[in-house]
Amino acid sequence: MLILDRLLTGLHDACAAFPDKRKGAGDYSMADIGLSAFSLFFMQSESFLSYQRSLEEGRKTSNCHTLFGMAKIPTDNHIRSMLDPVHPSHLQSSFDQVIATLRARGGMKEFERLGGRALIALDGTEYFCSQKLGCPQCQTRKRSNGKTEFYHSMLAATLVAPGHNMVVPLMPEFIAKPDGAEKQDCERNAAKRWLAAHGGRMKELRPVYLGDDLFACQPICEAALANGADFLFTAKPDSHKTLYDFMNGATFDEVSQLRKEGGKKLTYRYRWFSEAPLRDGKDALSVNWIGLAISDAKGKTTYEGAFVTSLEVSRETVAEIAACARARWKIENESFNILKNNGYHLEHNFGHGKQNLAMLFAAMNLLAFAMHTVCDCLEDLWVKAREAKRSRKRFFEHIRTITAYLVFPDWWSLMTTLINSKPPPEIEKQIAG
Ligand SMILES: [Zn+2]
Repeated sequence: MLILDRLLTGLHDACAAFPDKRKGAGDYSMADIGLSAFSLFFMQSESFLSYQRSLEEGRKTSNCHTLFGMAKIPTDNHIRSMLDPVHPSHLQSSFDQVIATLRARGGMKEFERLGGRALIALDGTEYFCSQKLGCPQCQTRKRSNGKTEFYHSMLAATLVAPGHNMVVPLMPEFIAKPDGAEKQDCERNAAKRWLAAHGGRMKELRPVYLGDDLFACQPICEAALANGADFLFTAKPDSHKTLYDFMNGATFDEVSQLRKEGGKKLTYRYRWFSEAPLRDGKDALSVNWIGLAISDAKGKTTYEGAFVTSLEVSRETVAEIAACARARWKIENESFNILKNNGYHLEHNFGHGKQNLAMLFAAMNLLAFAMHTVCDCLEDLWVKAREAKRSRKRFFEHIRTITAYLVFPDWWSLMTTLINSKPPPEIEKQIAG
């Protein structure tokens, strides 16, 4: 499991460089403190550390030491207090390492579409919400019961591709209170900041940015183009009056395709129009428009969507471009659900902090998810172990259970145990003892 080991070593180094508010040497290194928190997200278990502390008491070692390379396990309180001042940007090198690893090892192939380009979906999402717990960084809103609700949101950027379920979260841009009065302004401003901060970093992936209707506006389209990237955003008629007025009555290029999907016969009808103004005014960006309508055998429309893009659209490319635009749904349906159902509660239960803790945990959660995907793409043993346990949920359930009782000398022996449903002899000795 060399690839995972290297990623964890990289993260160890990133955590070791976290700002340390202590004067003089403490009992625990910043690397141990950072890795402790990360291990909860990576193992998808809020009890991981407490189980490892018990193992350490009895056996003088734990999976924190063997799998994550930690020297000692700090207390939960110490972790919270030491990590609260740490801004999530300190994890950037680990996010970069994820992409570099995928590129170097051929894992990017899974994500390349439209002639070797990467699709990066931008999407606003809440990662924390509570009526009880808040911090000075929380956004707030009044609920109908009169109570104030505290929440945090972010602009997530995620590598996606049509045709499979894997996604790779990138470093998000966090949304703070002064970002705007309206949700829409907050997300747009965060998207602009994300593109300014990360657009250059992503350049070599030749990205095509995907996003919702609210991103299909001139400043964000221009910000995407600024780094040599392209955009492919949903564009609804109500929010793009000039565009739709311009196309009104025009003749569209059109192609229809019959497809069989899950026993159903579907008709995909693509229409496209080149060079229409995105908005009013002389300086309006010229965009290409694609409309897709899917109908079933009875002629009933089951899906309708429209997009604007800087990509050239032709009879040959229209279907693939539309499929890429629709791949954006993946992050809502799959990755965010997984993050919310598992990690979200984890963040809730592990504490909130007063400065950066909520953001740092959200970033660690995304990073853990990104590393899981690297393993899904590149670590054969991990893939076999996941297949052996069938669902993602069961895979992590097994990991949670066996690491609570047994110390595995390395990831290899943990994965081998999952694959064979039987631990290797040296681990058996622990059970006998
Ligand atoms: Zn907060």
